[in-house]
Amino acid sequence: MKYSALALLRGAWRSHRNWAQAWRSPEPKHAYDVVIVGGGGHGLAAAYYLAKNHGVTNVAVIERGWLGGGNTGRNTTVVRSNYLFPESARLYDFALRLYEGLGRELNFNVMLSQRGHLMLAHSRHDLESMSRWVNTMHMHGIDAELVSREQVGALAPALDLSPGARLPVLGGFRQARAGTARHDAVAWGYARAASALGVDIIQECEVTGFVKDGAGRVTGVETARGPIRAERVGLAAAGHSSVLARLAGFRLPVVSYALQAMVTEPVKPRLDTVVISPGTGVYVSQSDKGEMVIGGSLDLFASYAQRGSFAVMQSVLAGTLALFPSFSRLRVMRQWAGIVDVVHDSSPIIGPTPIPGLYINCGWGTGGFKAIPAGGWTLAHVLATGRNHELAEPFQLERFATGRFIDEAAAAGIAH
Ligand SMILES: Cc1cc2nc3c(=O)[nH]c(=O)nc-3n(C[C@H](O)[C@H](O)[C@H](O)COP(=O)(O)OP(=O)(O)OC[C@H]3O[C@@H](n4cnc5c(N)ncnc54)[C@H](O)[C@@H]3O)c2cc1C
Repeated sequence: MKYSALALLRGAWRSHRNWAQAWRSPEPKHAYDVVIVGGGGHGLAAAYYLAKNHGVTNVAVIERGWLGGGNTGRNTTVVRSNYLFPESARLYDFALRLYEGLGRELNFNVMLSQRGHLMLAHSRHDLESMSRWVNTMHMHGIDAELVSREQVGALAPALDLSPGARLPVLGGFRQARAGTARHDAVAWGYARAASALGVDIIQECEVTGFVKDGAGRVTGVETARGPIRAERVGLAAAGHSSVLARLAGFRLPVVSYALQAMVTEPVKPRLDTVVISPGTGVYVSQSDKGEMVIGGSLDLFASYAQRGSFAVMQSVLAGTLALFPSFSRLRVMRQWAGIVDVVHDSSPIIGPTPIPGLYINCGWGTGGFKAIPAGGWTLAHVLATGRNHELAEPFQLERFATGRFIDEAAAAGIAH
């Protein structure tokens, strides 16, 4: 069923009883060409691009909970491509360009709002490194600009730029094409489009192990609903990637941490861009509903508890109020955390694993929502062809043996 203004009117005429389920929920088959573990954005996008780009439709996405219930539905929805190294800039800008056409392509409103992303400079050193960063981005052909203190004030009038401000703001670094997109809609849009192309979406079905042949090749997965055979298996399980890798028989250089976020009660439009202050590790945007969406630093101890610690919540809120003192009147309505998969060089891992037949997409850490279209595209490519996509080539697991790291810690926004 095609979503359109006309369909909405027709729905209203029939008291909205005409809507079909957005995706099918079939019983799992005994065998597929490809099984993807993890029904977050990356797993669902990979399934969609497998069907659309490669014609591989005998595919199942196996999710232990509900679609987007991992980090995809828990993130703060920021999309941008202001990365420093050419390999990452290419990958993330490819994702942003796909985001720009995604609503139309999936026939699902992903609510992309290119309201810009503004990084604050609190010192001359910040300004100098930002000017280097802007120049590098121009060399990659990606939009970015240095902005003055006055321009910062015009872009985000709620910021405290008074002489006595707790944190001086000397200027900033802006990417105008960046912004936010609705996270659930990205997962649901890919799920709906993949399901329409024949992909089976299986929820509430945990993968508990891997089936291998005598030569050690993965030939399927063990699940809570029985074994499922597959020619190739893709892992897109974010914070649980190392758990699954251990089940498959190899180790990943991934540490899982809780990353938390919170929203305030909704208010009238007050902040029309995404503001990040790397000095405090805090970033804020205003959702379409009017809530202030606040994110900050990692809980820096390994954890699988989707809560986040009080100490980090307190320091994130203190940083927010130092930047926006008027927000002190807002009440925090909800706080939560997701388990993010952090890699030493803050860059993703995409491609083959040491186990034949098993491919992986992980290591996105605190910033993989913006990469979902590219992560799905490149995982689909390696699953369909057995060869890594050129965009993913530098991000293979083997870089931890060769030492060819892509250290994006600074551009990760939230340092890790
Ligand atoms: C608070 C917070 C804020 C963030 N903010 C941003 C942001 O503003 N911008 C940005 O770009 N990124 C952000 N991120 C990071 C981003 O959310 C993630 O990098 C991205 O969503 C990862 O997507 P994914 O599909 O790989 O993982 P997920 O969405 O986590 O999906 C993995 C899925 O695998 C499933 N799974 C795990 N184990 C199994 C198993 N054994 N069997 C079956 N299924 C299994 C999980 O249930 C989960 O649904 C944020 C993350 C958090 C937590």
